[in-house]
Amino acid sequence: MVSLTFDNGPDPAVTPRVLDLLAERGLKATFFVVGEKLARHRHLAERAHAEGHWIGNHTYTHAAPLGTQDAATARAEIERTQELLDGLAHPDRLFRPMGGGGRLDRRLFSRDAVDLLTAGGYSVVLWDRLPRDWEDPDGWVERALAQDGNVLVLHDVATGAMDHLQTFLDRAQAAGIEFGRDLGACMPIRRGEVVAPLDGLVTP
Ligand SMILES: [Zn+2]
Repeated sequence: MVSLTFDNGPDPAVTPRVLDLLAERGLKATFFVVGEKLARHRHLAERAHAEGHWIGNHTYTHAAPLGTQDAATARAEIERTQELLDGLAHPDRLFRPMGGGGRLDRRLFSRDAVDLLTAGGYSVVLWDRLPRDWEDPDGWVERALAQDGNVLVLHDVATGAMDHLQTFLDRAQAAGIEFGRDLGACMPIRRGEVVAPLDGLVTP
């Protein structure tokens, strides 16, 4: 069972095609949107929401991991996007931190950011299946099929990688992979409660 997540959009050149492909197959995904793109292309997030996809917060500028930012900056990165998501956000307030190249390390969160996310009742969604589509737009499909892990991260941005989404979905389904939407395997904070250790993910 693999849950599809799409980060860093919405992008008018890519997101509509991704939504078309998901709709053709009856698949539901989660889109972690960047606030400043959401502000420009809200209609795309509205379409995704209307078609039954979940929408989560992926910071406002996506400039740097929260653990490298002061408390005020981290607060603005989280809260500006959550405000923009009014009417679209999943009720569990899904938030995915910016990994800076997909890294799950101590730069991911500051103590202040963790406090803010727990006080704000957020659910933090990480990842365990990262084929690095942004680095290898034509070769990621093989890795995405070969990797283990339940929460797959792809990016609905204009790298060309999503030109191969149809191929990936066809091959994955032919190989017996089922697509679901459970994010619990990668959710260390659920509705504000720390439910799995954050060891190695917080700046000392
Ligand atoms: Zn990202």
